[in-house]
Amino acid sequence: MENYSKLLDRLKEITHLGRAGAVLGWDQQCYMPPGGAEERSEEFAVIGKFTHELFTASETQKLLEGAEAEVTNLSPDSDERLTLRMVRRDFDQAVKIPSALVSELAREEGLAHEIWVKARQDSDWKQFAPKLEKLLDLSRQKAEYLGYTDRIYDALLDQYEPGRTSAEVETVFNNLRPGLVKLVHDIAAAPPISDACLRRDFDEDAQKAFSEYVIGRLGYDFTRGRQDKAVHPFCTSFGRNDVRITTRYEKNWLPSSLMGSIHETGHALYEQGFAPGDDGSPLSNSASLGIHESQSRLWENIVGRSRSFWNIFYPELQQRFPGVLDNISLNDFYRAINRVEPSFIRVEADEVTYNLHIMLRFELEQAMMDGSLKVADVPEAWNEKMRSYLGIVPENDAQGCLQDVHWSAALFGYFPTYSLGTILSAQLYEKAIKDNPAITTDLENGAFESLLEWLRTHVHRPGRRYLPAELIERICGEPAQSHSYLNYLNSKFGALYGLS
Ligand code: ZN
Repeated sequence: MENYSKLLDRLKEITHLGRAGAVLGWDQQCYMPPGGAEERSEEFAVIGKFTHELFTASETQKLLEGAEAEVTNLSPDSDERLTLRMVRRDFDQAVKIPSALVSELAREEGLAHEIWVKARQDSDWKQFAPKLEKLLDLSRQKAEYLGYTDRIYDALLDQYEPGRTSAEVETVFNNLRPGLVKLVHDIAAAPPISDACLRRDFDEDAQKAFSEYVIGRLGYDFTRGRQDKAVHPFCTSFGRNDVRITTRYEKNWLPSSLMGSIHETGHALYEQGFAPGDDGSPLSNSASLGIHESQSRLWENIVGRSRSFWNIFYPELQQRFPGVLDNISLNDFYRAINRVEPSFIRVEADEVTYNLHIMLRFELEQAMMDGSLKVADVPEAWNEKMRSYLGIVPENDAQGCLQDVHWSAALFGYFPTYSLGTILSAQLYEKAIKDNPAITTDLENGAFESLLEWLRTHVHRPGRRYLPAELIERICGEPAQSHSYLNYLNSKFGALYGLS
């Protein structure tokens, strides 16, 4: 196993280099003064170049081929075989794309970002359209290099959700959409819920203390992580023993930091929960972005927006903000934190309408990629889908097709992972309760260990041993499906809005 262990040593070095870059990225978002931006981007470029060169070098290829020959007699389920399967996948993809295309994409993305910011400010799609054309063209070239069997979009989706095809995702979404649209319409016809109590004055220091108390109770290990303030909430990891999250505070909107912190904690629990024996190995990684998002959504929504959760935490919340919530009952608070309202901006959407925002983007992206939708026609197509799914039409493109950063960064194929994760969160939770019915009572008592332990065993510790579809099949005994999620939504929001 000489080649195998040499290969792992080499990959460990590449991982360490990547993590050094991640520390710089975390610093950039949390503490770097604006003056550091220019040099920091050069530092990123150097690290990116060296990690790519080390990984695609002939030395890596030689070690990989040698290692593959060494493990042929081992079981396909052995860690060695599973590791090499993932390394081979990554290697074959990395060498397919010419480095000239990689750097052209990076350069165009850098330029597109500024143009998108300005176009969004002016709410003017025409400013952004030519750049988007360019990025679509380069992404099509990239997809052709990567290869696909059915649709060109599959090659791009595969980068974030390895092994899944857009046809599979489409089936899951098609099964979900009619039920979602109906639920949105039924809720719109029901008496509205007010969330005014969440818009009172919430002191920032008290918000910070409360969210740290809550996520500590959920199992976030502060000896192996920390929470800082940043413009955009995110989770980043420099190894299983240093997994950091960020949050942002809004004085007059409590959910921004609180629910955001719980969401990022879901991501962090996954990363902190990789198997200790896998440290430094390619297996010490997430299975996909969709699986990652299933963890954040599960903790944020299924746990963090449940009645049993607020039974436990609401008295504490009232105490920590003296006078602010005195006249608000637990029931009113629970209803406020779960208010459903069709809105224009995806990142502010509630649990029910959120997935319709994603489906819209998934459909438009595919149509742009295969050429059936012209870039110039995107605003009209966007607005038409908003009308049909959510019953509202944006007044301008800033509220519509210019709102998200993803397209300016050529992240085509990324959006569907948000919805896949949301759908999987309910499917996994249902299986957890079936395997261990005590989890429900534990959650009612404010004990989160049994749920976390189930997730550790079935989702976290396996790390990147399996492709996401294989992992779900192994855990649930069935492929990804949307009925668990729809049942969850119908039962929760049916009760909240008094639907029959
Ligand atoms: Zn997330």
